[in-house]
This record gives sequence, structure tokens and C-alpha cells, in this order.
Amino acid sequence: MKHIAVIGGGISGLTAAWQLTQLDQSCTLFEASARVGGIVETERRDGFVIECGPDSWVAEKPWARELAIELGLEDEIIASNDFQRRTWLLRDGQLLPMPDGMRMMVPTRLDALEGSPLFSQEAIRAYAAEPSRAEGLRASALPEGQDESVASFVRRHFGDEVTRTIAAPLLAGVFGGDVEQLSVRSVMAPFVKMEQEHGSLIAALNARPPKPGHGGTSIFGSLRSGLGTLAEKMSEALPTASVHFETPVQALAREGGQWRVSTTQGSGLFDAVLLATPANATRALLARLDAAAAALLPVEASSAIVVALAYDRAAARHMRVPEGFGYLVPPPQAGQGPSAESLLACTFVDQKFPHRAPDGCVLLRAFFGGDAAERLLHAPESELITRAEAQLAVALGPLPAPAFSLVRRWPLSLPQYATGHLDRMRELEARVAQLPGLTLLGNAYHGVGLPDLIRQARSAARALVAPEA
Ligand SMILES: Cc1cc2nc3c(=O)[nH]c(=O)nc-3n(C[C@H](O)[C@H](O)[C@H](O)COP(=O)(O)OP(=O)(O)OC[C@H]3O[C@@H](n4cnc5c(N)ncnc54)[C@H](O)[C@@H]3O)c2cc1C
Repeated sequence: MKHIAVIGGGISGLTAAWQLTQLDQSCTLFEASARVGGIVETERRDGFVIECGPDSWVAEKPWARELAIELGLEDEIIASNDFQRRTWLLRDGQLLPMPDGMRMMVPTRLDALEGSPLFSQEAIRAYAAEPSRAEGLRASALPEGQDESVASFVRRHFGDEVTRTIAAPLLAGVFGGDVEQLSVRSVMAPFVKMEQEHGSLIAALNARPPKPGHGGTSIFGSLRSGLGTLAEKMSEALPTASVHFETPVQALAREGGQWRVSTTQGSGLFDAVLLATPANATRALLARLDAAAAALLPVEASSAIVVALAYDRAAARHMRVPEGFGYLVPPPQAGQGPSAESLLACTFVDQKFPHRAPDGCVLLRAFFGGDAAERLLHAPESELITRAEAQLAVALGPLPAPAFSLVRRWPLSLPQYATGHLDRMRELEARVAQLPGLTLLGNAYHGVGLPDLIRQARSAARALVAPEA
């Protein structure tokens, strides 16, 4: 039997370790912290289910749901309350609704834009004109093998206002990133394909059959008891002795065709290593093996701070939270708009999903991201809560005292897929292929969402056990 080391017990490494165990292949999991799950973490308190990191998977991608079913959690799967799916944008202290039928920044219904307070007449005209520009847009579509920023792509289709008002906060919400830097091929691949095929993105969306959440089933899935249950279930299935908590891996070295894994507790030899640490840790471990490969990893990563506020029934009666999933805050523009410590978004958790709060209670989850998270990363909890409450009050009106609150900091948790990312990943994979037995997993490569990470981890584990399959 092979000796396999899995380094990092976030959803990527944990899923790989669980999959190996399912295939009767033992492994040793090294985790730097005292728990598995990484960014996936659920707190359960007084009937509230609070996600400290991700709150859901995208239903369009089946891999997280499949895993939940295999873990015996089918009865736990819940869907987002799409009947009240509405996203708001905060502008000048006012919440403005996103028009119905938006797929990211692309409208499926032009009539829904009429009278929207979100856009100027000029932006509405830019939207209305896009389908008639299809020929020109197809002719100017991104040539195969080339990349551009999300901002440049969206500007070509809809102009600057849509880029700033919708694309920037949406992408910042998911990737913690800056639209001027993010690679459109990496983070909006389906839209790039639509442009190649149809020119117009609006025409392309209208030509597609309905997708989940667009007349079909819900757009997000999750678990009744929280996504932490995924991690807890997988962890229970691992032999206790195979998991080494509080054991950060400090070095990796080739030794006689094997891998020496050195930790704070000692070292061991392994035939294969699944390296599932965050980008910065992976870069440090890889640098000693192949400095050029390490240099290909995303250089920047953004941090996130989650502030959850739970309100009991009595307090909730004094709140006026509008119907919807939550709101986004467009990033500040130089010299105007919200302060640099502005929240990125807030989720109205009890409305987005069932079973997240006791009946009649309210659960809000506010996020700081980007520069704001960087600046506030070391601020005391009380300051983060006060800042979040003050900003939420601008959008939602005066807030009563929460029954309790919770803060989680996720430093450098979302690597930035900057333009050219896919080319760099191809080069990285070619270089890593020269290091037999080493596989890289995690959110620095081909997707930050749980479904993609789960799929990649499971297939990497299967490939190790049956390489010819
Ligand atoms: C606030 C927030 C909200 C999100 N929301 C969603 C969402 O709703 N849906 C979605 O699909 N995705 C979401 N994401 C993205 C998703 O949660 C992450 O991309 C994913 O959880 C990353 O998993 P991972 O296993 O690759 O990394 P991590 O979770 O970062 O795990 C890496 C693990 O490696 C360990 N480690 C680090 N260094 C070492 C070392 N030297 N030796 C051993 N172990 C080490 C760490 O302690 C950690 O446990 C969100 C991300 C954030 C930050």
C-alpha cells in the first residue's frame, strides 16, 4: 500500500483524505490548526446556524450535493428561498433593488431595467443596444488563448457604469477581487464562450434553456445544520490516528524517489503528497523544490472578515430588513462614495435559507473584504462589530442590540486570478508534473467554490489509487 500525505485539512485536503479512505487507501492528514474544515466552519448557538465562511454551494454544479448524499446527508440538503431572491445595492445610503432576471451583470429581461433607480438612462441605453451590436462584439471577441480583465470585458458590452455599479461588487463578493485585475477567462468563462458564439451576452442568455434558479430549482444549496456538517462527517470517517492536528508542514523534499514531509513534530517519508494548503503556504513549500513553479501561483490574495449578528424575536420586531438575500456595496471610487473601511456586503441569512434562525428572529452576516479587510484584520472584535453595526444602520435603519455576535477573520483566503491566470496554471501544472507524486489542490488554481474544490480533490485521490483509470 502507498504512503500518502495530505497537507491541509480544509475542504480540499479533507475531501481528498476522505476519498482515499473510501477507496481503502490509508493516508496521513497534516493540519496546521486544531480543527478540520479550513474556511468551512459552522457555529450553532441558541437555535441559530451561523456560517463563518461559505454558506452554500451553487446548485448548477452537482459535486457538493453529490458528496453530501454520499455522506448520508440527503435529508439535510436545503435550497435557498428563491421565491424571495432579491439582491439590493447600497448607494448614497439607500438600498436599490437589482432588476429581476439579472444573471450576474447581464439582464435576461430588458423591460425589467425600465425605471430601475439603479441605472442612469445612458446605462439602460447601453444595455438595450447590446443585442444589436452582436456582430461587432463577436468580431471583437477575445481571441483564443488571450485574456483580459473582467472590467475591460464588461465595459465592451455595457459600458463603465454597469462595470462599476454591478460587476465590481458582484465579483468582489465572490472572488474578493478587483474587476480591473481579475481574469475574465478564469472567473467568467461561460460569458467568454457566449461572446464567442453570440457576440451579445443578452442574446446568448435568452437563447439558453432555463437554468436552476431561473424558473427551475433553487440557485444555491446548503445543509440544514450548516456546511460544517460536511467537514464533520468526513472527519468522523477518518481513522483518528491518521489526522495530525496542530502540525503545520514546514518543508517538503525529494528523497530517494519519495517525499520527506517535515513538520514541527518530526518528519516522515511518503510515496505521494496532496498539497492542499492556501496559496501563500503552498508557495513557501514549493519554492524550495522549484522556485519558478512557486512564482506561478497567484501573488495576491484578499482577506475577508465576517461579522454575524443574531437578533432575538423581541429585537427583530423593531427591525426593518427588506425582503431579499442581502445587499452589495459598490467599491468606493477615488475621492467619493463610501469610506475605505466600507462593508462589501450583507446577507439577510434568515431570508436566504430556511432553518438558519428560530422563527421570528433575524440573522445578518456582514462582510468586510478587499482593502477594508486588510486594514481591519487586526482590529479588536468590538471595533469590527461596532463598525459593522454603524454601516448596517445606514442601510437598514437603527438596529437594536443583537442577542450575540460573532467575528471570523480569513486572512489571504481568496487568491486573485489575475489576467493570464490560465496560462500560468498550465505552466505550473507542467512543472509540477516533473515532481512525481506531488499534486496541488485548493482554491488557487481552478475555482474557489466548494463544488469545484470537492470535484478536484476527489478526482486527485482517485487518480492516486488507480492512476490508469
Ligand atoms: C468569507 C468567505 C465566504 C465564502 N463563501 C463561499 C460560498 O458561499 N460558497 C462557496 O462555494 N465558496 C465560498 N467561499 C470560498 C471557499 O470557502 C474556499 O475557497 C474554500 O473553503 C477553500 O478551501 P481549501 O481547502 O482550498 O482551503 P482552506 O479552507 O483555506 O484550507 C486550507 C487548510 O490548510 C491548513 N494549512 C495551512 N498551512 C498549513 C501547513 N503548512 N501545514 C498543514 N496545514 C496547513 C489551514 O489551517 C487550513 O485548514 C468563501 C470564502 C470566504 C473566505
